[in-house]
Amino acid sequence: MTPAFEKLQKHLKQLPGLGYRSSERIALHLLVEKPVQLAALVNALQEAAGAVRRCVRCGNIAEAELCAICADERRDQSVVCVVEHVPDLVAIERSGAYRGVYHVLHGKLSPMHGVGPEDLNVSALERRLDDGTVSELILALSNDVEGEATCHYLTERLTAGRAVKVTRIGFGIPSGGGVLYADSVTLKSALDARRNYL
Ligand SMILES: [Zn+2]
Repeated sequence: MTPAFEKLQKHLKQLPGLGYRSSERIALHLLVEKPVQLAALVNALQEAAGAVRRCVRCGNIAEAELCAICADERRDQSVVCVVEHVPDLVAIERSGAYRGVYHVLHGKLSPMHGVGPEDLNVSALERRLDDGTVSELILALSNDVEGEATCHYLTERLTAGRAVKVTRIGFGIPSGGGVLYADSVTLKSALDARRNYL
């Protein structure tokens, strides 16, 4: 292999879900087998990097200040479903069972991996609660020790002195699993069967 090839492969390997073999295959594909696709990919990356950002309110991906969900007046802005990552939000949207809005934490508390509250999108959630429009927070975090610890932390930090109801989905979500891996029917029953969390 050549130095430039190896450099590209090294960067590809750092992407989620790509190991040594798949990054090698992609690098070969782009540089040698289908170089015509490379220019289009570089363009798309540059365009997306310039256009896509975090919604200032909820942390979902957006191309304006607010994402399409926050900007949609038909959504119930008084119910906020808190998720770890954008794909969790997408999974819940796909279930069609939810008409409220979201808040994306971009992770969960994990002392083992050095993730503390300051690394999560919590301050923005706190600000959302301050204007009094939010009446319920639905915690749709994973069903594991870190997800549970994050739920506890959020509840303690966010409910003090505020009249906000906190619920947690759980029914039907496999232990140790998350929203992303649940099918639409399971997600709908998980949302319907949410229980008070305090
Ligand atoms: Zn948003």
